[in-house]
This record gives sequence, structure tokens and C-alpha cells, in this order.
Amino acid sequence: MLVARWGTTKRALAMAEQLIISISGMRGIIGENLTASIATEYGSAFGTFLKKRHAGKKEKLSVCIGRDSRPSGKMLKSAVTEGLCKVGIDVIDLGLVTTPGVGIMVRELGCSGGVVVTASHNPARYNGIKLLLDNSIAPPPDAAEQIKQYFYDKHFALVDSHDCGQVTSNEKTDNVHIAKVLTIVDKELIGERKFKVLLDSVNGAGGRVTKKLLAELGCVVFAINDEPTGVFAHAPEPTAENLTGLCEAVKTRQVEIGFAQDPDADRLAIVDETGNYIGEEYTLALAAKFIFRRKTGKAATNLSTSRMLDDIAQEAGVQVVRTPVGEANVAKAMLEHNCIIGGEGNGGVIDLRVSPIRDSLVGIVLVLQLMAETAKTISELVSEIGGYYMSKDKFAAGKSEAGQILDLAKETFDDAELDTTDGCRFDFDDGWLHLRASNTEPVMRLIVEAKDKPAAQKYIDAVSNVRRKILG
Ligand code: MG
Repeated sequence: MLVARWGTTKRALAMAEQLIISISGMRGIIGENLTASIATEYGSAFGTFLKKRHAGKKEKLSVCIGRDSRPSGKMLKSAVTEGLCKVGIDVIDLGLVTTPGVGIMVRELGCSGGVVVTASHNPARYNGIKLLLDNSIAPPPDAAEQIKQYFYDKHFALVDSHDCGQVTSNEKTDNVHIAKVLTIVDKELIGERKFKVLLDSVNGAGGRVTKKLLAELGCVVFAINDEPTGVFAHAPEPTAENLTGLCEAVKTRQVEIGFAQDPDADRLAIVDETGNYIGEEYTLALAAKFIFRRKTGKAATNLSTSRMLDDIAQEAGVQVVRTPVGEANVAKAMLEHNCIIGGEGNGGVIDLRVSPIRDSLVGIVLVLQLMAETAKTISELVSEIGGYYMSKDKFAAGKSEAGQILDLAKETFDDAELDTTDGCRFDFDDGWLHLRASNTEPVMRLIVEAKDKPAAQKYIDAVSNVRRKILG
């Protein structure tokens, strides 16, 4: 599938430089707008929120914390830890681990919350603080707002020396994570194939645990960029333009599949045995294809994710629940509908048997099991699924402009099937488009998917007309 990437305007880029506080936490640039003292206060705000949320609980609350490999990670982790201890929360330090690893340990250790120090797929100069509640899901909007307010008001429930939180270490995350992931596949069946696999972990947090998992599955593993130095070997978002090295290495090493993770290893992109980047949208589609062979039930994904999932689901008699964009929204819908698989088109696969969090390790084992069971190559499996042309774009638009654009779009596409749970998603016979305001920046995002490029262009042009009428 072809994916045209973001046409980012200079204005949008400038806006992205601000410290962002959203549902999933805080993100900023180290040395500019994200400092250790800010991280400490954010930790105290989160701890204060947790104390209020669990006010009836007699025992002391605990939070587990981990970080990806960014050089600023240790500093920020210490700072958040200090902020939590100040308000009387015990902290379990998981060290350098993946985001899904922290999500798993929150529940494994019975913590009241989790913190991941990561800026995910953003460049190394960024870092961030991702918050999880005791269900391993990001706080819902009202809770996120409360935490933000405590942070801005410096409303911290400080404790005296006697009640300060204590810090302990736990190094079991990788093993617990691997054990959980292995429960959802047939280890012996995959092991018999002795798959030759290439892994690119971009020197993020995923290398160590993923190599260990692949070794347990009997794979012959070639790893590149597997040192967790935080010195990213290429731009860290696992997109086609950033993975040319992996594609080349797949050909040179003659492996059967290439996997690429983002720095905190919740996203997974796949390269086929010919060195062709197949796109992150296929990760969920392939994982779902395997799950639907075994189970019936529902699947969940956001409104911006490819129709490929609907095609596979229809064939298998599975219903797809569509949610607003955001991992927490997908996870919530999966719990509500007891979904058998879910995730997002950015390579994030969620299997509730492991955790309600996107997990590249889950994606990897499900795809390997699909290859083992079908005895097909990854390119054969991809061509069976077929594909669409997808285009992604974003442009600057304030709140009122975004509202006007959506209103005019509704008039323009009045014959389409419309979903307004997150901006507007218009479904047509030959494709769909999703137009929404970003949760974190004053920009609008447009995703268009259609059977081919000319069909998609028709919708892109129509939206351009709408934009011109409002923005000039
Ligand atoms: Mg990530």
C-alpha cells in the first residue's frame, strides 16, 4: 500500500515546539521547555491525583516507572520519582524498558499507576512523561484535566519526612512481558520454522527484550540498531523513508521478514522478504488476520485506520468497532466490547490477553504465527489482504476555523455515510476520508483512503476546496 506522508507546514512545525500536556501525558524539548523541575512537579501532580482517586485505600500507593533509551531519560525518571515520593507514593523503578512493558508491570505489581519517560517516535531532543492508571490505560479526559490543573496550580499533597515514598528496583519486566506474549501463540509451531528475522530497534528500548523473545521462538535473529543508547540511528518514526537501511539489510541478509520498532516499542512496521516496506497499516491487518482464524468476536480500531481491517473482518464475520483517535479510546472500546484484537493503523496492535496497550512484541508473534500456520511468505500474506492508496496530511487551523471546515465538509459530502465521534469521517463506496482537529496542536489532520490514487485525489481536492473557502 502506498502512503503519502504529512505535508507539514512551517507554522505547524513551530507550534509543535511547545510543551504539550494532553491525555497521554506531557511532551517537550529537553533544555527548552521540558526540565527536571517541571518533571518533578508533574510527578507530584500525578501522585496527588492518585491519592485522591484511591482515598479509601489503607496501604501506601505505589507507581512503577520506566524509561526509553533517550539520554535525558535517567534525569527525567529521577525527577518524576522525586515528585511522586514527595507526595508519599512509593516508586518501583523498572529501569530501561518498553512502554508496553510498563503497562504490563502496572497490573502485575498491583500499582495504582504507571509512568513511562518517553517521547515515543519523536526525535531524540524530545522527551515526555506518559501516564497510566491502574488499568494500564491513559487517564480519561476528566482525570487528565484534573492532573493538568494540579500541575498548573502547584496543588501538591506533600507529606512529611516520615511518610515520603520509598524507591525500590524491579528488573523482571522483560521476562514477565515475554512470558505474557508467548501465551497467545504456539511457541513450538513457530520454533519449528526457525525463521530468519531482522530487527531494527532504532537504538531504543525494544532491542533487548525483542531479541530475547525472538530467540525463545527459535528465530535466527539479525539485529541492527539494537543498543539502547538513545542515539537514534535514523529518524525514529518507523515509516518508509526512515527504514531504507532495514530494507537494504533484509535483502543483504536474505531474511524472511524485517521488523522495525519505534523507540518505546509500542509501534511495529514490517518489511517483506524482498526488502519492501509494507507499511504500518498492514501490521494490525496481519495480526487480525491471524486472530480471526481462531476466534470470533469483535475488533476495535480508530476512525483513521485502513479499511483493510473491515475487509478481513467481513470475510471472517467479525464486527469492527470504530473509535475516536487515541490509544486510550481504542483500549476502552476493546474492554467494553471484549474485543479479540484491536489497535491503530500506526503499527500498534493490542491484545487484551497481554495488556490493553499497543505492543510491538504482540504484533511480532502474531505475524510469525500466521506465517508458520499458513506456510506463506509475508509478501504472499500481504497480497492476499490487498490494499488501498492512503494519503495523510495536516494543516494549520484554529478551533473556530476547524469547526467551519467541518461544517462545510458536511455540506460538501452530504451523500456519504458520516461518523462525527471524532471530527468527521465520511465513508464512500470507493473510499473514505477522516478530517479532525488534533488533540495536542492547533492543526487539522486529513486521512484519505481509496481504491487507488486517482480516487483518493478526488477527495483530497474536494477537501482542498473546502479549506480554501474557509482559510483563504
Ligand atoms: Mg511509541
